[in-house]
Amino acid sequence: MLSEKMLELGTNRSVIRDLFEFGRKRKAEIGEDKVFDFSLGNPSVPAPACVKEAAMDLLENEDEILLHGYTSAQGDAGLREAIAAYINGQHGTTLTADSLYITVGAAASLSISLKALAEEGDEFITFAPFFPEYRVFVENTGSKFVTVDCDRRDFQIDEKAFEAAVTEHTKGIILNSPNNPSGVVITEEGIQNVCRILEEKQREYGHPIFLISDEPYRELVYGDVKVPYLMNYYDNTLVCYSYSKSLSLPGERIGYIAVSDRAVEWRKIYAAICGAGRALGYVCAPSLFQQVVKRCQGQVADVSVYKKNRDILLKALTEYGYHCVKPDGAFYLFVEALEEDAGAFSERAKEFELLLVPADSFGAPGFVRISYCVSTEQIENSLPAFRALARAYGK
Ligand code: PLP
Repeated sequence: MLSEKMLELGTNRSVIRDLFEFGRKRKAEIGEDKVFDFSLGNPSVPAPACVKEAAMDLLENEDEILLHGYTSAQGDAGLREAIAAYINGQHGTTLTADSLYITVGAAASLSISLKALAEEGDEFITFAPFFPEYRVFVENTGSKFVTVDCDRRDFQIDEKAFEAAVTEHTKGIILNSPNNPSGVVITEEGIQNVCRILEEKQREYGHPIFLISDEPYRELVYGDVKVPYLMNYYDNTLVCYSYSKSLSLPGERIGYIAVSDRAVEWRKIYAAICGAGRALGYVCAPSLFQQVVKRCQGQVADVSVYKKNRDILLKALTEYGYHCVKPDGAFYLFVEALEEDAGAFSERAKEFELLLVPADSFGAPGFVRISYCVSTEQIENSLPAFRALARAYGK
């Protein structure tokens, strides 16, 4: 009667959502400030002022019919031009509006890109740890989801393991840097190695292998760390972007796909993107916020609070005896569980009112993810609980 696969996806809630729901109930029992919820990756800083200014101005001064009407299926031409110009200015590329497809966030960007590329028997590779929805998006195209573990010492890419995983069936790879859940930014050298391997494998197998760069956290980096722009390293690149984190607008659902104009038959790829958008029903992203985002190109929410939170947590947790992966970006701290089973560790942490996400579904058993996109006050108030938890394990 139903798709068993969809029923399963809709019935089994994610661990993150379960923890979040637990947190809501617990807060109602013992008080909002007594529970340290680090489960969700929901931005905790407001959108920059330009968002409200643009929205108000548009609502007051623009033609309402146009403002709330449909745009082209692939998004407003003016917005696509503005994004192309911004990317070109930042990264020296030569994109035009014809390379851009506006989406309802990075999740849609990924689903559309995969749908556009996938043929029967294809495989898509990603690096573990990874955003768990990748598995859902890849498998929904009928393709095989292949994962390659990162090097456990620094969570950078393990080249040899990656090289061994690429087969003649590999249609593409998904690379996410800054990474959810590790917070790691892949080094330029790591990127160059991946691209070299992809070039070699394309030659060996005689067909293109696409690099899908999932980069909703591009602007969330701390210190002078650089996030390489992948189109400048590899021709067959598609960038999946979102304004959810950079403009703190996750609920407004605006992102894009940029197809490199150096990709093989890029106009055909773009046409297939339009086709996939159509087949999935992802046409015409919200019109008002397309216009808002057009006026906010180059703006970023004040992410300094994330850096502050990261610094406080990293220092304290290291002192208490936790082993943390050094995060240069995003708003996640990836921490080794103090017992082998991260699920059991997460349960134990609940006794100290700490909600930490076990990373098994991210493809990294033995770790937990701490989303530090919360108030600095919550971070500071949670430190005694982290210390007590470490002590409970004899640290
Ligand atoms: N990719 C990664 C790595 C993410 O962490 C997220 C959301 O948290 C997404 C994609 C989806 O982002 P969006 O809200 O733009 O759909």
